[in-house]
Amino acid sequence: MAMERFAPSALNTALEDLDRSFAHLPEFTAEVQGQDRMLGVLRETAARLGDNFPYFHPLYAGQMLKPPHPLARAAYALATWINPNNHALDGGRASSAMEKEAVAELAAMFGWNQHLGHLSSGGTMANLEALWVAGQLQPGQAIAASSQAHYTHERISGVLHLPFAKVDADDHGRLNCQALERRLEQGGIGCVVATLGTTGVGAVDPLPEILKLRERYGFRLHVDSAYGGYFRLAGNLAPATRAAYDLIGEADSIVIDPHKHGLQPYGCGCVLFRDPAVGRLYKHESPYTYFSSHELHLGEISLECSRPGASAVALWATQRLLPTVPGGEFAQGLEASRRAALTFAARLKDDPRFVVPFDPELDIIVWAPRAPSASESSGLSQRIFDLAAEQQLHLALIHLPVSIFRAAWPDLQADQPTIVCLRSVLMKPEHESWLDRIYAILGSTTDAARST
Ligand SMILES: *Cc1c(COP(=O)(O)O)cnc(C)c1O
Repeated sequence: MAMERFAPSALNTALEDLDRSFAHLPEFTAEVQGQDRMLGVLRETAARLGDNFPYFHPLYAGQMLKPPHPLARAAYALATWINPNNHALDGGRASSAMEKEAVAELAAMFGWNQHLGHLSSGGTMANLEALWVAGQLQPGQAIAASSQAHYTHERISGVLHLPFAKVDADDHGRLNCQALERRLEQGGIGCVVATLGTTGVGAVDPLPEILKLRERYGFRLHVDSAYGGYFRLAGNLAPATRAAYDLIGEADSIVIDPHKHGLQPYGCGCVLFRDPAVGRLYKHESPYTYFSSHELHLGEISLECSRPGASAVALWATQRLLPTVPGGEFAQGLEASRRAALTFAARLKDDPRFVVPFDPELDIIVWAPRAPSASESSGLSQRIFDLAAEQQLHLALIHLPVSIFRAAWPDLQADQPTIVCLRSVLMKPEHESWLDRIYAILGSTTDAARST
């Protein structure tokens, strides 16, 4: 076992290049004292960091965690020698330009050749801005999202003092459009959140139907694709999923997290607005009267002030190496994750020990161990989860309504309203080739869990 080590030598070469950009300055070298102690503390730090689940390893197939690309890691580190702050051009000239370029590429991925947008610390901050804009444009009107939408939408609505309407999800975890329409008929909904890739089960809300409702009821549409946005590039989606992704550009705002599927270290979300004129809402003491992606100054269109230029630099470099285009190497990585999920689901469906409620839409798969009742299946899930972890296979657990099994498991005795399922996010490119080993451990721990 060895973690990849692209960075050190390449980083030194790049640091020498960076040094040369400042060669015209009078000679100055910052003194670094106590190198021996620093090495000691750094090794102590490494020892502390060893107390973690092995997120980088293919046998970590639990939560939504993916190692950053080695280039992203190196570019991020390189940028810290400048430590730019993208709140203003004075704080980070080059990294602000790189942020605009990288964000424009993300907007272009959704079909937008004009937009307003920027990076943020993550999807939550990005969603906060999108819902804040919705609230500014439609004061006091409610935000509607499905019960499977990210839990932070309800909390964000509370922070913004906007009413929140929770809409039922269907048996596949997608927003139920009949339920949404019933809620819209009552009035007072200013913004609907459509999730393209729910965090729990990777469900994609039916955007074509939601857009039809928008024609009738005229709400603002926010797409939360913090996790799922990049799947727009995947060539192997099911038709209904594809149809939703094809229409993502119809949204008023979109959130995508480069720190989820975009190979970035944490601290990199992104919010995009279709209409650059929303920039006027952010106006504080600024002389700007006209907003477009060229004239804006990033600090003028962000709720956060200081922001790491290093995040923008890492994203820019990654997209330079792996452009976000259909058919490219980056897109192939997403396709491999989805193939892995489909293959895994097919094996589980063929295996009498398990029940799969629905095929994965993206690369998240949920399943339950077969047992007479929801409570017994839930207990088994917990035991398999624990035993698998002892064998170094790290899965996740999720509580879901028993109704998701209505079609796939008609004789399930629903002795409780929810069921604990096993869940796996197969988002690493290596997962596909590790499926046999993953399945072998799952199988043996399932048998062990049943016999205890
Ligand atoms: C992860 C996620 C969020 C929250 O994003 P953070 O980057 O964790 O703040 C919001 N919505 C969805 C759909 C997500 O998957």
